[in-house]
Formats: sequence, structure tokens, C-alpha cells
Amino acid sequence: MPTYEYRAKDEARACGYCAERFEVDQRMSDAPLERCPKCGSPVERVISVFSVTTGPSAKSLLSDKNIKRHGFTKLVNEGGGKFRRI
Ligand SMILES: [Zn+2]
Repeated sequence: MPTYEYRAKDEARACGYCAERFEVDQRMSDAPLERCPKCGSPVERVISVFSVTTGPSAKSLLSDKNIKRHGFTKLVNEGGGKFRRI
């Protein structure tokens, strides 16, 4: 089952859970989450270059530095529909 990452659209309204990215196991056919399961704030799916579902090192694998080292590009949502390439 793929793991999707989400984060709050509006950090001002986010709780501790969705202010940082959180991961949800979903079937491909499942509709994307629209709200944080904890606080109900609007969330958006973070497009990741790959999904890591195992091990405690998932966070470091997905660090900006590591992504760059492997030649991937990460887009950061700056709000208002603008994305910044890092
Ligand atoms: Zn939340």
C-alpha cells in the first residue's frame, strides 16, 4: 500500500500533527485526505519522489540534502499556489 505524505495548508491553523508532514497509508483508489485526522485543518498531499514505508531512517532519507544528492528535485509549497524548487 503506498504511503502518502500530507501537511497542513495553513500552518497557523495546524496542530502539532499536521504542522509537520505526516504519512498516511492509502490505496491508490482512495480519495486524498482533505482534513487533518486530528484537528480537521485543511491538508494537502505532498508529492514525494518516492515513498518510504520502512525503518526509522525514513526522515533522513527524505531530507533535502539526501534528495539533492540523488538528483531529485523537491518542490516546496510557499502558499498561494507557488512552488519553490530547492
Ligand atoms: Zn492537525
